[in-house]
Amino acid sequence: MSGLRFLALILLLVAGAARAQDFAGLARLDVASSQVRDAGDGLVVDLGLSQPVPYRVFTMADPARLVMDFKQVDWGATTRTTLLNADHATDLRFGQVRPGLSRLVIGLSGPMLVKQAGMTVDPTTDQARIRVQMQPTTPAAFAASVGAPPDPGWDAAPPTALPPPPKAPGGPLIVMLDPGHGGIDPGAQAGGDKEADLVLKLGRDLAEAIDRAGGMKAVLTRDADVFVPLEERMTLARAAGADVMISLHADILTEDDTTGGASVYTLSPGALDAASERTAERHDRSDLLRGLDLTGQDDTVATVLMDLARQETGPESVMLADALVAGLKAAGADVNSRPRREAPLAVLKAADFPSVLVEAGFLSNPQDRAALESEKGRAAIVAGLVRGLQAYAAQMEAKAPLIRQ
Ligand SMILES: [Zn+2]
Repeated sequence: MSGLRFLALILLLVAGAARAQDFAGLARLDVASSQVRDAGDGLVVDLGLSQPVPYRVFTMADPARLVMDFKQVDWGATTRTTLLNADHATDLRFGQVRPGLSRLVIGLSGPMLVKQAGMTVDPTTDQARIRVQMQPTTPAAFAASVGAPPDPGWDAAPPTALPPPPKAPGGPLIVMLDPGHGGIDPGAQAGGDKEADLVLKLGRDLAEAIDRAGGMKAVLTRDADVFVPLEERMTLARAAGADVMISLHADILTEDDTTGGASVYTLSPGALDAASERTAERHDRSDLLRGLDLTGQDDTVATVLMDLARQETGPESVMLADALVAGLKAAGADVNSRPRREAPLAVLKAADFPSVLVEAGFLSNPQDRAALESEKGRAAIVAGLVRGLQAYAAQMEAKAPLIRQ
């Protein structure tokens, strides 16, 4: 164990043991007394908190970043711009990783080590201050220091590939709705809107409409502003016995692209067009934000599921995607000029049931943004998707006797 990892553990243990009785309730970040600023060639992170909170500090590589975990922090009115005031920090994100765990991730301009990290508590007010000092180091020393010490107190239970529950014949079509991004990963951002918020609203509206429509039941992978890693979304879908999965997104294609309207993606193992490639890139990168290297586990789960998926669900996913596009058009929703797209998206790869990704609109397009912001605008998209799902269910019903032979 490197010295720094040890230091981080000690800090956690001291903080946890000495003041455990103070950790009830939620520590609020005081924006006015919090800042990320340069200190010589290094960096200082200063966080003012309403009360002490268990925390840990570690670094990650590719790109170099400082990760701070808390149990947990109410970020209040904090924004990236109010907190970040440093040339040696390239980016800053924060949010909830899962219930009870908040994370702050700061992009570093180069290899740096944690020189010092500590929490002080004011004995009269009980307010706490966490200060982390970062100093430049060599790439080799940085590479040797990165990574979170494995700790069951902080790490999530590993995802397991559960067998889906047995289906009752003639039961409702279970529709897994998967609002993209969330928590520490806001997704695309434009005009003061976060993709994560807009697709959550759309997901909730759609879930309600699906349940109302009859013959179908909706389940959400997230119903709050929390980060859900891809493999966990998959586990949730399988546990729910999902018949189909619809991931909801509203990305930005490029800064100056005015492309608008909804489009539906299915998995393509083949060549990509440029627009699909950019979307694929963005989605595959978002899991980096979690700050943990889950590559090994990810791959195992994905491989198992992909083997299951390969023969069965490709044609059904295409059928579902086509039905959704037809539904959107019939309901008068704004549909992209090229509404059917293909991409090698991880969220689609990991499915052993038909799954599609719906770009409900593009956040770079002001009209799409306005539509997703308003209940009325969302209603057309919701009506179209419900219609598409009903058409898909009817097609599957018609095919059922053939499958049973
Ligand atoms: Zn997205």
